[in-house]
Amino acid sequence: MNNNRLRGLLIVLSSPSGGGKTSVYKELLRRYPKFKYSVSATTRPKRANEIDGESYHFLDREEFVKKKDAGQFAEWAEVYGNYYGTYKDFIDRSLQQGEIILLDLDIQGAANLSRQYEEAVTVFILPPSLKVLEKRLINRETDDPEVCKRRLQEAIKEIAEWPNYNYVVINDLLDDAVEDVATIIKAESLNSSRFPERYFENKFLK
Ligand code: 5GP
Repeated sequence: MNNNRLRGLLIVLSSPSGGGKTSVYKELLRRYPKFKYSVSATTRPKRANEIDGESYHFLDREEFVKKKDAGQFAEWAEVYGNYYGTYKDFIDRSLQQGEIILLDLDIQGAANLSRQYEEAVTVFILPPSLKVLEKRLINRETDDPEVCKRRLQEAIKEIAEWPNYNYVVINDLLDDAVEDVATIIKAESLNSSRFPERYFENKFLK
């Protein structure tokens, strides 16, 4: 292994439903193709606009439980009756290679991952107001109205989690929110803790 390699970074994005983190991370990946996205496993049915292996790895419950029991997930959670899990192998390999990895996790997933990986940086994406949140959930049209209502109630509770995150970003204008997250990533990527011991001595003094 190359000991003089920079440590990888885990950037965890969470938000209440309708906070807009999906748009934020998609735009980040478009602007910074070097960033890696951690594609989760889920038992949720595929939506029309989703691609298996890109949005998620879609598994049935039996397959998911098998992988979970085999310890393949760094964290997993049940969200709205479906299972979601982060592939441990992908995270560990990407970290070792010094990659910047984006993860889209719910609140429990963000907390669980941070406990295991000290390099995890957590960012909470908030909508600018309750009115906007409500509008976004209704406009989504990917879920039925009952699901939207349930998600709004849940979202209101989730907003209270903001102090548990390293950073908070308000997603009013997408461009600004993306720039804010990119700035966080830039600063974190220059944090001295990312550099291995004697990194600069080895680089300059030998
Ligand atoms: P959706 O079904 O709308 O794509 O996602 C529902 C929720 O599951 C979102 O809050 C999303 O962040 C979360 N989620 C997606 N992948 C994972 C994962 O691997 N682990 C955890 N804990 N949550 C996830």
